[in-house]
Amino acid sequence: MSLVVQKYGGSSVADLERIRHVASRVRRYFLEGHRLVVVVSAMGKTTDALLAMAQELHPFPPEREVDVLLATGEQVSIALLSIALFAQGVPSIALTGGQAGIITTDVHTKARILRVEVERIFRHLNEGKVVIVAGFQGVTESGDITTLGRGGSDTTACALAAALRADVCEIYTDVAGVFTADPRIVPEARKIPRISYDEMSEMASLGAKVLQLRAVDFSRLYRVRVHVRSTFFEEEGTWVEEVENMEEVKVRAITHSLEVVKVVLLGVPDEPGVAALILRTLADFSVSLDMIIQSEGREGKKDIAFVIPREDEGKVRRALEDLQKILSFEGVKFDEDVGKVSVVGAGVANDPRIAFRMFDTLARCGVNIDMISTSNLRISCLIPKGRVEESVRALHKTFISDSEVILREGS
Ligand code: ASP
Ligand code: MG
Repeated sequence: MSLVVQKYGGSSVADLERIRHVASRVRRYFLEGHRLVVVVSAMGKTTDALLAMAQELHPFPPEREVDVLLATGEQVSIALLSIALFAQGVPSIALTGGQAGIITTDVHTKARILRVEVERIFRHLNEGKVVIVAGFQGVTESGDITTLGRGGSDTTACALAAALRADVCEIYTDVAGVFTADPRIVPEARKIPRISYDEMSEMASLGAKVLQLRAVDFSRLYRVRVHVRSTFFEEEGTWVEEVENMEEVKVRAITHSLEVVKVVLLGVPDEPGVAALILRTLADFSVSLDMIIQSEGREGKKDIAFVIPREDEGKVRRALEDLQKILSFEGVKFDEDVGKVSVVGAGVANDPRIAFRMFDTLARCGVNIDMISTSNLRISCLIPKGRVEESVRALHKTFISDSEVILREGS
C-alpha cells in the first residue's frame, strides 16, 4: 500500500463538473488501496480575481490582508472536493494549510515553509480518510495566514510528499507534462519523459510555469519523485527525478519568460560597497534578481542594470526610493518591453558551441541581445519582448527539432 500525494491545479477544479471528475479519480486510487493526500488550488482564475479586487481598493494592498483574502480561494476548493467525495461514498476531510500543520515564515504573499507538523494528517489517514489540503497556504508560528507565492500549491504538494515520505507526488495539470518548449508557441514541442531535478529547477526559475521553483527544490532536497501529468488523460506525463547520463542530451528545453523587467540605476558612485548596498536593499524587500551587469566607470560614476520578476516591480520601486535616501544616484529606468529566452540542459556548460549557436540563431532572426547570463545548466538572453516567440521557435528548431533529425539520420 503506497502513500500518494496528488495535486490538482486550478484548471482541474475550475467548475463542479471538473471537481466531480477529480473526485472520481481520487476515488479510484482510494479503492485501489492507496493512502491519499490531495492538494488543490483555487478554482480556475479565482486567485487572479481576488487579487484584482484588492488592487482596485489600493494599488499596494497590505500583504498580510492579501494573504487572508487569497487563502479563501483554496478553502472553497477543498470543501467542494470533500463534499464531492462524500457524494461518491469516499470518507474524506478538508484541511486548511494551518490545520494540515504547514508552518511558514511571516513573509506575507511569499512565505516559505519552515516545517510540516504531520501528526494530524497521519491521524486522519489512519482513520481511513482521504486528506484534502488547501494548497498555497500555511500559518506563521503565531497563527497568521500566509501564502506561498503564485503557483504555490505545487510547493505545498512537494513539501507534504517530502514530510510524509510519500512514494510519489503527482502533479495533475491541464497539460500532458513538461515540454521541450511552450507548445502554444512551438507546435512541434514534445513531452519530455524524464527530466532531472536540476534541469527542472532551472526551467522553473526561467519561466516554465508547469511547476513552481520551490516545489522542485523541495523534491530535489528530499528526493521525492514527481510525476507531472494530465488530469484529463490517462497517459504518463513527465517524471522529475534523479537522472543519470544526463550528458546524453545537451539541450533539454527552450524556456522563456515575458514576466521580467529590466531596471537600470544611472550614475551610481563607482566605489566599493555600492553594489552590496543595492543588493542588500533589494534582498530586504525579498526581491530576487537575475543578470546583474555594471557599465565601465566614467568620472567616478557607473550604471548598474539588473532584471527582476515583473510581480516585484512595485516593491523594487519602493526599495529604490529607500535606497535613494542613503545612496545618491542620478536616476532609474524601468524597461518593461523585454523578455528572456533560455536554452536549458545539463550539457550546456561543457560545450561552448551551444552559446555560439544560440547567439547565431538569434542573429539570423535579426534579434538584438541586450543582456546575457549563464550557469552550469543554461544560457539566457534578454531580448525585446516582441521578438520572444519567434526566437523560441528558432531556438527550438536549432537545438531540438533539427538535432533530432541529425540523430535519426545518423542512426
Ligand atoms: N491559487 C494560487 C495561484 O493561482 C496557487 C496555485 O494555483 O498553485 O497562484
Ligand atoms: Mg499552478
